[in-house]
Amino acid sequence: MKIEHDLHIHTYLSSCCVEKELQTPKNIISLAEKMGMKTIGFADHLWMSPSIPANDWYKPQDENQITRLKQNLSTIKTGVRVLVGCEADTIGPGKFSITKEFAKTLDYVLLSCSHIHLDNFDQPKSLAPRDMVEHLVKMFLSGVESGIPTAIAHPFALFGPLHGRSDGLISTLSDTELFDMFSVAEKNKVAIEINAAAVALRSEPVRLITNAKKAGCKFTFGSDAHGPAGQRALLNLEPFLNKTGVTEDDILPLAIGGK
Ligand SMILES: [Zn+2]
Ligand SMILES: [Zn+2]
Repeated sequence: MKIEHDLHIHTYLSSCCVEKELQTPKNIISLAEKMGMKTIGFADHLWMSPSIPANDWYKPQDENQITRLKQNLSTIKTGVRVLVGCEADTIGPGKFSITKEFAKTLDYVLLSCSHIHLDNFDQPKSLAPRDMVEHLVKMFLSGVESGIPTAIAHPFALFGPLHGRSDGLISTLSDTELFDMFSVAEKNKVAIEINAAAVALRSEPVRLITNAKKAGCKFTFGSDAHGPAGQRALLNLEPFLNKTGVTEDDILPLAIGGK
């Protein structure tokens, strides 16, 4: 299927963006126009929870992210549909970097449930794949039941020093376990993100997505771009999607012009 939306784009406002001078909303929109995108969504990292203090990395990425982004966007004219969202975090079961009330003020929220490489995040019992995966499933279930997310960003993808451990995690889960987990997402009307950067990392992403589809989940696409090359890499998902059987009917309406 043809990819015409990208709901996971970071700008210079995200601390992890290294190409800050290139990654402006203006440049991102102009590349999206060239790529033939119909909808794009900005998803900078966000921590605004008044009850849980942000770690040092997250501290500058508070709710002012959204104000600054909207100021930038106010001067740009484009035919591309532009949504303002964020990538928020599950710190541990029941602990989130964003409140439900703030989430409602945005067009959408991508919630990560696997950024466990960050400081002060709840940790698994050990780094054994099954312990890690059970911890990530708990984080996922807590996330989808929180009333916060529109979609779960890159399920089971690990980053930073844990990056290499993404491989082999999904194979420790049975199809029944995956189906049951995604059924909870479907019941809560939370979509699953198909993330171009994460698909390249994991050993069994096809099985992950086919089980989510079987459970009736809707999907969003995201490049997780932190620079122009990452934004272009979204289109690399097309051959992967052909293997999963995901079609236009499986896409979250919000991503393709609906609410
Ligand atoms: Zn992420
Ligand atoms: Zn991201």
